[in-house]
Amino acid sequence: MLKKQSSILKKGSKKVEKISKTISKKLPTKKIDTEKLPDHHFKKVKVKRGVSGLGLFAGEDIKKGEIIIEYIGNILNKEEAEKVTTNQYLFEVNRNKTIDGSVRWNIARYCNHTCDELGNAESEIKKGRVFIQAIKNIKEGEEITYDYGTEFFEEYIKGKGCLCRKCKK
Ligand SMILES: [Zn+2]
Repeated sequence: MLKKQSSILKKGSKKVEKISKTISKKLPTKKIDTEKLPDHHFKKVKVKRGVSGLGLFAGEDIKKGEIIIEYIGNILNKEEAEKVTTNQYLFEVNRNKTIDGSVRWNIARYCNHTCDELGNAESEIKKGRVFIQAIKNIKEGEEITYDYGTEFFEEYIKGKGCLCRKCKK
């Protein structure tokens, strides 16, 4: 079952600007040692500066169809998730389970948005867990990106301008 990250983002739209600022402040500036984080990457990945800020990069060749990394975080139930309005890293898995992926140890959150055909991955829900899966062969060193979906784009990206390779041209 494929579901876009955007499905929960119906609230807090007036606060978008404030949110973006808060989040960018939280982003670490130092290099992240992925080896020291909880083991949720199935493929070697690196976090480094990409086209639109920090991004997630392939640390080895990845074949189409392979799972790259799991999107992890604190698990929120429906009530808890509804209380949160200032977090663009929420990922709704199902009606009663939302992953708050804003935590430092979820390096999948560095996987940036890209518009449509340029993406080389997609998010996929399997048995209540969220995985980032390759939809193209990815070479070592390439940035891993996927389309966050229309709702997310409207809510969080459109206002400040999309920084993906396609839109930056
Ligand atoms: Zn774009």
